[in-house]
Amino acid sequence: TLRVAKRLDEVGFSDIVQIRNKVMELRSAGQLVHAFHGGEPFFETPEPIKYAMIRAMVENKTKYAPSSGIMPLREALVEKLRTRNHLDVALDDVLITSGGAHALYVAFQAVLDPGDDMLLFSPYWTPIRDMVTAAQARPLLVPTASARRNGLTKALEQFSTPHTKAIYYNTPQNPSGAVFSREEAEEVASFARKHNLIVIADEAYEDLVYEGEHVSIASLPGMAERTISTFTFSKSYGMTGWRVGYLVAKEPFITGLRKLVLYSANGVSTPSQWAALEALATTQSFIDRRREEYRERRDLLVNALNELGLECEMPQGAFYALPSVCKIHKDSRKAATILLEKAHVATIPGVVFGAQGEGCVRFGYSVPMAAIEAGIEALSKFLK
Ligand code: PLP
Repeated sequence: TLRVAKRLDEVGFSDIVQIRNKVMELRSAGQLVHAFHGGEPFFETPEPIKYAMIRAMVENKTKYAPSSGIMPLREALVEKLRTRNHLDVALDDVLITSGGAHALYVAFQAVLDPGDDMLLFSPYWTPIRDMVTAAQARPLLVPTASARRNGLTKALEQFSTPHTKAIYYNTPQNPSGAVFSREEAEEVASFARKHNLIVIADEAYEDLVYEGEHVSIASLPGMAERTISTFTFSKSYGMTGWRVGYLVAKEPFITGLRKLVLYSANGVSTPSQWAALEALATTQSFIDRRREEYRERRDLLVNALNELGLECEMPQGAFYALPSVCKIHKDSRKAATILLEKAHVATIPGVVFGAQGEGCVRFGYSVPMAAIEAGIEALSKFLK
């Protein structure tokens, strides 16, 4: 019989996509749905970025680009990484990818062998676990909240095995909105150095920190050579559909990564890269303004959830909140189904992100303020 490769047997297919489909189904049946299940910026791609792409096409910048990315974009990124991330990188250390997802996929493929273990703070962005599995490695889940309470080093020691090869380090974190502090980054870094581990840093939400600071772990002493840092234009610039991201790494990893990008995609859409170059010229005040708009949304939603008895820590970054829904149902899948069917509020169950213990669901608050207000009203009606 015909058979797909065995390494795909254990790889799941995103639950989030199934929920998105269900919401579309309900909406096309005329149902009003308060949509908090998404993870896209609420604002549109700024006009100058769109025109940069049009200009690129008109100027016939439509042929193959170098598979590592167009030179002006990589040059601009070297400067961005130096000034904003405090990373001292050479041009050859930067590789353009088809979004952050592609950067992460090639990173796992480049470092993991069958039988390797990978430390993963949970809850985690769902595809990460599947990408680790697709690389035939085993995810070792480190519960973030208790690890932060009791000390990251202790937790990492506890869950590590003799086969541990790498750590996935995502801050600000999807789905919890947690932001690791500089001290916590230093703890993870010192653990990685002590045990000679590779770190895969996911900095997709680097610009969305409301309290504290974003620390690129590769900027800490002795970390640049053992870290693959991944970034994306998706969240900061409202560019989810453009599919441009990048990664930074040194040898021996960067050559392997370059091969994987070459063979998996032969580079990224040329006009999209010219648009990304324009995005880097976006003023800091644009990013700062968007951040304040997100903060307003966060405060409105999270305060209301707590008032409604859905206990929720104030997330410090990204655009997600992860309240407890135990009072609706202990099983987060059931709670999310009840919320959708009875309150018409769409969320993602915590189990999808590997959240252990008490039931919680993820609210994405990157939606208009009025949509948050309407969602809160629907929740409050339902809970009464
Ligand atoms: N990393 C995290 C934690 C994310 O939540 C996402 C998107 O939701 C990504 C990476 C990748 O985003 P993209 O592939 O659009 O760049």
